[in-house]
Amino acid sequence: MLERSGPPGPPLRISSCSSWLRGEEEPQRHEEHQGLNREKPKISELLEKDAAQQAAPKNSRKLLVKSYGCQMNVYDSARMSDLLEGEGYSEAAREEDADLVVLNTCHIRERASEKIYSELGRLALMKRERREAGRDLTIVVAGCVAQAEGELVLRRQSAVDLVIGPQSLQRLPQLLRRTEQGERVADTDFAVEEKFAGLPQPTRAQIAARGVSAFVTVQEGCDKFCAFCVVPYTRGAEVSRGVKEIISEARRLALSGVREITLIGQNVNAYRGEDEHGRAASLEDLFERLSAIEGLERLRYTTSHPVDMTQGLIDAHASLPKLAPFLHLPVQSGSDRVLREMNRRHDAAFYLDIVARLRRARPDIALSSDFIVGFPGETDRDFEDTLALIRAVDFASTFSFKYSPRPGTPGAEREDQIDEETKRVRLAALQALVEEQRQAFNAATLGRRLPILFEKPGRHEGQIAGKSPYMQAVHAEGDASLIGRLLEVEIVAAGANSLAGTIVSAMESA
Ligand code: SAM
Ligand code: SF4
Repeated sequence: MLERSGPPGPPLRISSCSSWLRGEEEPQRHEEHQGLNREKPKISELLEKDAAQQAAPKNSRKLLVKSYGCQMNVYDSARMSDLLEGEGYSEAAREEDADLVVLNTCHIRERASEKIYSELGRLALMKRERREAGRDLTIVVAGCVAQAEGELVLRRQSAVDLVIGPQSLQRLPQLLRRTEQGERVADTDFAVEEKFAGLPQPTRAQIAARGVSAFVTVQEGCDKFCAFCVVPYTRGAEVSRGVKEIISEARRLALSGVREITLIGQNVNAYRGEDEHGRAASLEDLFERLSAIEGLERLRYTTSHPVDMTQGLIDAHASLPKLAPFLHLPVQSGSDRVLREMNRRHDAAFYLDIVARLRRARPDIALSSDFIVGFPGETDRDFEDTLALIRAVDFASTFSFKYSPRPGTPGAEREDQIDEETKRVRLAALQALVEEQRQAFNAATLGRRLPILFEKPGRHEGQIAGKSPYMQAVHAEGDASLIGRLLEVEIVAAGANSLAGTIVSAMESA
């Protein structure tokens, strides 16, 4: 713990910010499937909890949570907003209105963490101006930069009041009270189980405001230690949440209008959570339970590691119609030598075999992946192997990055680093190839009828926008009452970044 430098400021104020927050919607009602053992939400239980949370003291503090990086941070940001709203804080639409700004940070690449320090520089200036005007701004750094750098953040930027790691979020209110007394605090303990038990469930209004698609964290941390990656150091060892807790969160989401759930984890398919009988449940066991929840129409999961892609999970793509025919399965490289040096624990043939088995189970499955170019020692030949794997798989979408050496990881220690220009040229070549594949995939949907989950109003009057099973953005003519519905849509145009369609009929499970 460090002492705060400078005078203690006035009390905290709050607001929240997420751009994906939307207006409230009434949940759709659905008939039960005959013969299916449906999971029923307990309405009275939920209403009681909502009433308790809504009775929280109101004050004038405003909070803004800014989320960077992966979906795990999006989920944690929403939990922080829920937690502080329960303490009486309200959301600020803009930074200027906020009395408390939380940066929920990403440390995965150098550029991501440096961006945080430039944001902090800007906020420090705002804080100084505020103080001159007799008002304060409390600055909190959360997420992976907080976990990786701890007290160093307080030393690098004196305007920061609190540094809080991703596993300590449940302690946010108490820690904020300490900053109000003038303390500057860094809390980066690893206590994942305590985290989930200590975080409040969002109210129905909070869920509804976030839209019809929601994330649910089922697993945190990673034991894989890929040679390029900071995650095992920032998020700790793999821990899975219990089945009962996840199902209760999913039921609550469904009851509040959520139609699509994405199960998330740094290594989500390594999920092994305890069920009600004390047995270790797998991800496919979870999907079977989630499939029976009334109102949930579509299920997804991310991010998976190839070595944890079991036959049981592959088979779930064949047997569970609600499981979307789309999988993000990062491979990073197509060179066996680079994969070995990255410590990925599999070779290219292993990955191609998973793809073949997935396509046998669910012929229309679309694949997405992550690639890193310019890992230390990567030769032109290695890079050609990566392009060959991309050609062999034919991806619907991809994310690709130049290798960024991260302090403390084995890759960063190597002397055979690849120069920036080579990385740039390889990234451009890779991206040209995957872009061709993405456009071809989009064009191939022309004339097809796809189930589209409508999520929000479209850009133009009279339009609504949603997602295809393959994560493509789709818009169609329709009014806002169709938001939250899963509708059959005929695709009539395929643009560079979105598809246009005509609504044909409703598709929800009867
Ligand atoms: N758990 C996932 C997996 O097994 O691939 C990846 C999670 S990581 C948060 C997301 C992606 O960031 C990785 O798949 C990788 O492509 C990229 N990444 C991670 N470390 C990187 C680094 N040091 N430089 C460039 N890209 C990196
Ligand atoms: Fe990072 Fe994913 Fe490798 Fe874990 S499996 S170390 S999260 S890239």
